[in-house]
Amino acid sequence: MTTLEIECPVCAEVLELTDADRAELHVGDVIVCDSCNAEMEVTRSGEGEDFELELLGVLTTCPNCGEEFDVTEDMLAAAGTVQSHDGVEVSVVTCPHCRARIELEFEEAE
Ligand SMILES: [Zn+2]
Ligand SMILES: [Zn+2]
Repeated sequence: MTTLEIECPVCAEVLELTDADRAELHVGDVIVCDSCNAEMEVTRSGEGEDFELELLGVLTTCPNCGEEFDVTEDMLAAAGTVQSHDGVEVSVVTCPHCRARIELEFEEAE
C-alpha cells in the first residue's frame, strides 16, 4: 500500500491519499483540504505519482453575513493586499453576498 502525499497549494498542509482513496478518485472530483478548506479538482489520476490537482478556490465563511463563498485565485489576484497591524500581509476580498470586506491571511506555501 503506497500513500501519495500532496501539499496543499494554499496552506502547505500535507494531504495523504492512500491507494484506496486514489481508487475512488476520478478526474473532475474535488478534494477539500482539512486544514484551510481549499477546494482542489483532480485533473490527472494515473498510476503512482501520476496525479495532479488544480486549485479551485478556498471555501470561506463570511464573518459578517455567515454565507459561504469560494475565494478563487482570480479573486485573490484582483484583491488588494494590506499590511495588518502585526505586519502580516493580508488579502482583502469582498463578500459576494453582503459586500463586506474580509481580510484573508494565507500562510506562505514553501
Ligand atoms: Zn490547505
Ligand atoms: Zn457576507
